[in-house]
Amino acid sequence: MVIGVLALQGAFIEHQKSLAACGVESIQVRKPEQLDGIQGLIIPGGESTTMGKLMHRFDLFEPIRELGRRGVPIFGTCAGLIMLAKEIAGSDQPRLSLMDIEVERNAFGRQVESFETDLMVPDLGEEPLRAVFIRAPYIKSTGNNVRVMATFDDKIVLARQDNYLVAAFHPELTDDIRLHRYFLNMIK
Ligand code: GLN
Repeated sequence: MVIGVLALQGAFIEHQKSLAACGVESIQVRKPEQLDGIQGLIIPGGESTTMGKLMHRFDLFEPIRELGRRGVPIFGTCAGLIMLAKEIAGSDQPRLSLMDIEVERNAFGRQVESFETDLMVPDLGEEPLRAVFIRAPYIKSTGNNVRVMATFDDKIVLARQDNYLVAAFHPELTDDIRLHRYFLNMIK
């Protein structure tokens, strides 16, 4: 199994380390042809408007949409969550529009630009998941097919729809690899 990690900007190296800790090989994706032959794709955190510009420049929007529509699992974290959303509150920035969610960017306020908390994630067992939030978005509303997997302060921060998984936080910045394992288990 080989997992692609979109490597235009942001925290892609850290995702590769988490995948390696799961015993899984990964490649850095910067060109459409690098999407051939991967069994899953991670879109990392970073800055979603910059990532959108780079994805446009490298002609990655349509090939990634096709990958998603073929049913290949895609995991978006933080800016990656924003890229997967259909709706971004108050913004017309480019996005993949693959997942039926509306997101609010930079949603936790200026005073708390970044913070860590323990999340209860029933899908991952009873042990809470340490979650690092950095200028994080949250999910404001979801379509019927979206399953909410965790909330923080009544805000949705982890969700799944079919082959799409999104986290508002950075699972690649802790040693806990359960969410990466969960994603790998989505691959048939
Ligand atoms: N605030 C960033 C954005 O809107 C996301 C932050 C992150 O990925 N850590 O794109």
